[in-house]
Amino acid sequence: MQAMKRIDDEAIHDDGGRARVLLTELADNLWWCWGVDGAAIFRALDPERFEATGHDPHAVLAALSDAEAQARLEAAGLTTTLDEAVRALRTYLAGAGTWGRRHAGLLHHAPIAYFSAEFGLHESLPIYSGGLGVLAGDHLKSASDLGLPLIGVGLLYREGYFQQTLDDEGWQQQAYPALEPEAKGLRRVCAPDGSWLQVQVETQTGVLHAAVWEQAVGRVRLLLLDADVPENTPADRALTHRLYGGDERTRIRQELLLGVGGMRALDGLGVRPAALHLNEGHSAFAALEAMAQHVEREGMSLAEAREEVANRTLFTTHTPVPAGHDRFGPDLLVEHLLPLAQRLGLDAEGVLAFGRVRPECRDETFCMTVLAMKLAHRVNGVSFLHGRVSREMWASLYAEHPLHRIPIGHVTNGVHLPTFLAPRMARLLDASLPAGWRERQDEPEIWEPVLQIPDEAIHEVREGLKRDLVHHLRELAARQARGRGEAASVVRALEHAFEGDALLVGFARRFATYKRASLVLEDLEVLDALVNDPARPMRFVFAGKAHPRDEGGKRLLQKVFRASRDPRFLGKVVLLEGYDLSLGRALTRGVDVWLNNPRRPLEASGTSGQKAAMNGVLNCSILDGWWAEGFDGDNGFAIGRGEVHRDLKLQDARDQEELVRVLREEVAPLYYDRDASGLARGWLRRVKRAMATLGWRFNADRMVRDYAKGGYLPAAGVQLSEPR
Ligand SMILES: *Cc1c(COP(=O)(O)O)cnc(C)c1O
Repeated sequence: MQAMKRIDDEAIHDDGGRARVLLTELADNLWWCWGVDGAAIFRALDPERFEATGHDPHAVLAALSDAEAQARLEAAGLTTTLDEAVRALRTYLAGAGTWGRRHAGLLHHAPIAYFSAEFGLHESLPIYSGGLGVLAGDHLKSASDLGLPLIGVGLLYREGYFQQTLDDEGWQQQAYPALEPEAKGLRRVCAPDGSWLQVQVETQTGVLHAAVWEQAVGRVRLLLLDADVPENTPADRALTHRLYGGDERTRIRQELLLGVGGMRALDGLGVRPAALHLNEGHSAFAALEAMAQHVEREGMSLAEAREEVANRTLFTTHTPVPAGHDRFGPDLLVEHLLPLAQRLGLDAEGVLAFGRVRPECRDETFCMTVLAMKLAHRVNGVSFLHGRVSREMWASLYAEHPLHRIPIGHVTNGVHLPTFLAPRMARLLDASLPAGWRERQDEPEIWEPVLQIPDEAIHEVREGLKRDLVHHLRELAARQARGRGEAASVVRALEHAFEGDALLVGFARRFATYKRASLVLEDLEVLDALVNDPARPMRFVFAGKAHPRDEGGKRLLQKVFRASRDPRFLGKVVLLEGYDLSLGRALTRGVDVWLNNPRRPLEASGTSGQKAAMNGVLNCSILDGWWAEGFDGDNGFAIGRGEVHRDLKLQDARDQEELVRVLREEVAPLYYDRDASGLARGWLRRVKRAMATLGWRFNADRMVRDYAKGGYLPAAGVQLSEPR
């Protein structure tokens, strides 16, 4: 009631400023991008600017005077919509009756601290590179929706990851546009005494300083540390400019800020977390800092502090790829960790031992994953299969356990449904599922009515989503080709890309080599037969970024680009620049089939296919990561049966063969088998089965609840009163 009154009060002294006040209130909390259709409001104010700035509401607002904002809002007929959105935001923030209130009440005084080097929340805040970040973003959003007291800790990258373009030879170019935190609506965090909070971290060679910013993510706060402050040397000011940029020294200093600085930021705010969740090893120094605080403040012995911290720490490992596990040489480590070691009563050797599988082995490099595993009693992989692979991978660290008893479990990843579910499909589900289904999205029964949706209704939604996507892709691809100065004929072909209702296959993810983006186009004759099949044509759309230093990944991109410019494939195989959350959402909503062909078992989970599934897109994937447990024989397509060959060439050749066979013999026939009314009944049946069998399992609410029930609450010493 109070919230409503405030809005009405603002209406009294209104000279156009009211619109801005409400628009800013909405824009300042990222809830606008999932809780309501905030994009519709901000886009209406200035469609071109909204697009050009990567959907940044603050950039739109900054370019408008109060009166202009008001006038455009009125012209778009959105005044009431805005009022309602702000009211809904205030109601949401008040947070009555959430799952967290009922089951995690004690955490309100001591939240979970969730550490991650990247957070993928929205395309306008480019502090993520791929799946790890998107997962962390989804984790915060679901924690917020569930009312689970949790606070995120990360780094503010003022140049983000990078903006991708391709030159006219298809070679990736990176640009690093500056991110101004104030202009993004981020706030400097204040200490309890009202001054700006700043943290210091000692090293052997000087002190690192960082400011702390805050982004509101629904009910959750995300703290972001920023080394670009005057107290730092010029070199250190650049420390947090780029995600995964710089050398090993930059990396360890970033991780020191994230872990140790992050713990100090929490401390400076008076937050005593009930548990720490380390999302990947990057932040593992946080656990050492927590130990040092116990030793100093409570007089614990090293062993006691270690036990105390390990009991309250969760560590999630995210990849079996060796390069994904940070290792640092002894010199770097001693330079950065000795002051912390001394607080623990350790010498250099003593602290180095924490990062080694065999503590006494002096030439073993310090590994952040090992550190995290030693300091967390709760360790998990991100799918059933990845749990097993991780137990094998780290068996030597748990030598006292037989393989099947190694204490590494799994919590399979999920995606934030309100972020990735298309509005068209959401409306159909709202009309078909029981009221309140979103709050119960992780219950299988809730999704069962999907099976009863008439084919016509699901067909219409799918067709609409594909139409929207194709329209968007044509514009995007043609604009990008023009930007590259390509021939008018190429641009024209792209303006008409994907003509007709051909089966549309999508592939978008980081261009890490193990993901094998180019597998389907290894043999262009074979691709020609698929794409230009007169009866059952197939179209492909690709997108993805290669890490700036990954030449192999860049070559894969170039290979796809070259195929897309082959006359046989022009306008039929399309590669788009600038894969980000926005393009990710669009693609996983609009294609017919989502292709995933990693080299098993290297895809720990993968999440883009989960986004596709909830939108009725069928997965066609190697049985790796989440799909190895999601596929049930009839809710998508499997490439192979999970075979693994020692010889990688052989593995790639077999998988390519099988991939092409599945596309030609299973996917295309089902898609093109139409009845008299033009409906692909068998296909639609499978679409419904995909949604009904996968929707409830692979969403982030289920994931966060799993972490809460199996990790956060036990770690915090809180007992869950009832199963839900
Ligand atoms: C979902 C998503 C990912 C993760 O997808 P994977 O299948 O795990 O590769 C990466 N990047 C973006 C932009 C995404 O939206």
